[in-house]
Amino acid sequence: MERKDDGVCELVVPEDAREDFDGADTVRFAIDESTVADSTATEQLTLSSPLFDWTVARLQQMGNVVHAAPTGQPVSVRQLTSRLFDAYTVEDGNVRLGGCTLEDQPLLRYTYRIRSMSNQTGCRLAHVYASPEGRPFDDSLLSALRVDDLAPIEGKPPRVSGEDTRRWAATGKERAPIVSHDERAELLVVTVVWCKYFHCKLLFEINETRADLSFDGWAQLLVDRGIEPPPFQCPDTGRRSYRLLVMDDGRITVPEAIAACEQSGRQVLESDLVTCAASGQRVLPEFLQKCPVSEDRVLPSAMVTCPTCRQNVSPSCLTGDRCQACRTMTTIRADDPRMARVLGEHPRLDRWSRWRLAETDSSYILTATSMLRGLLLVLDKESLEATHLATGSRFGRRWVEVPREQRAEYLS
Ligand SMILES: [Zn+2]
Repeated sequence: MERKDDGVCELVVPEDAREDFDGADTVRFAIDESTVADSTATEQLTLSSPLFDWTVARLQQMGNVVHAAPTGQPVSVRQLTSRLFDAYTVEDGNVRLGGCTLEDQPLLRYTYRIRSMSNQTGCRLAHVYASPEGRPFDDSLLSALRVDDLAPIEGKPPRVSGEDTRRWAATGKERAPIVSHDERAELLVVTVVWCKYFHCKLLFEINETRADLSFDGWAQLLVDRGIEPPPFQCPDTGRRSYRLLVMDDGRITVPEAIAACEQSGRQVLESDLVTCAASGQRVLPEFLQKCPVSEDRVLPSAMVTCPTCRQNVSPSCLTGDRCQACRTMTTIRADDPRMARVLGEHPRLDRWSRWRLAETDSSYILTATSMLRGLLLVLDKESLEATHLATGSRFGRRWVEVPREQRAEYLS
C-alpha cells in the first residue's frame, strides 16, 4: 500500500487476490471525506465500504485468526534486569539473576462489526478481550499491556496448536458484545495478542551465604513500574525489606528483623528472643529459667521465692505466702507409686500420716501430720533429696525450718 501526497492511499492488489477484490488491480482510497470529494475514483474507507468488506472477506478466508504483539513490549531479559536489581540494597553483597525466562502468553481479542439495521451506514467496531480460558481481562490491565498498539507477528507465531486456534475462533459467538435490538454484531477477526510474561529467580549473595527470591509477572508492567519486585522476606522472622544483610551466624535477613537482647545487648534476630514472663524483657533464651510451677520462662532476677516451699517461682503464681503448687495440695495414699518411692527412700517418714502432695516440674511438695505436729517436705523429684524441711503445729500454717544438721532425725 502506498500513501500519495494528496492524502489518497493506493493499494496494489496482488494478482492472486484480484478475484476477491471484484477484479480490481488497484484500489484508491482515503479516510478523509474531503479528499474523496475531489476524485470519483477514490473510495472513502469506512466500516461498510467495499475495500473494508473485501479485506474482511479475505481475512476470513485465511481462518480469521491473526497473531500480533504489543509494539515495543520488552522482548529480552536484559530489559528487565535493572528494574529487578535496583529494587534491592545488599549490604556487603550483591544481587544477581539465578534464572529468568520470558514466555509469550496469549490473550484473545475478538473484533466485531456492529451494524445498525435501520441505518445502513451506521457501523462501529467493538473489541472484546478474554483469556484463552474465557476469563475477561480487566480494562486497566489491558491498557497497561498496551494492547491498543499492536503489530502483526511476522513469520511464525509462538507455539500454538491448530486445535487451540479453532477453539478460539469458535468461541466468537459466545463473546459477542450486547447490542441494541436493531443492531447486529458480526465477528470479523480473532487476534491472538502475545504478551511477554516473565518468571525470575533472584539470588542474593553475601560472603558465602545465599538467599533467593522468585517472582513473576507481565514484563511490560515491570518495565513501566506497574508492578514492583517484592521485598525480601526474612525466613526466620517474616519481616520484609528491600535491604538485606547477613548476621554473624551466616543467616541472611533484613534490618527490621534485628533486635537487641536486653540482657547481653547482643544484636540478634527478633525471633531468637524470648519474653520474660515476669519483666517483659526480650532476651536470649539462655538467660531465662523455667518456673517449676507455672513453666513460665522468667529471668532469675525476676523470680520470687515461695515462702512455703522455698522454690523460686514466677511472681504470677504466688498468692500470699503460697505458690500455685502449695495452694493445690491433694491427699495421697500410701500405696501411690510416688509415695511408695518417697517412703522407700526415707523410711522414717513412715510415722507421719495424712499425706498430701503437690507435684511441680522439679519437686514433690509434701505435708503430713503426726499427733499435734505438722511436717512440710520438699523433695527433688529425681534424687528424692530434701531441698526444704519444716515443721509446725498440726493446725497452723506457720512453718519453722528444720536446720540441715537435724534433718536426719526425720529422713533416711
Ligand atoms: Zn510453694
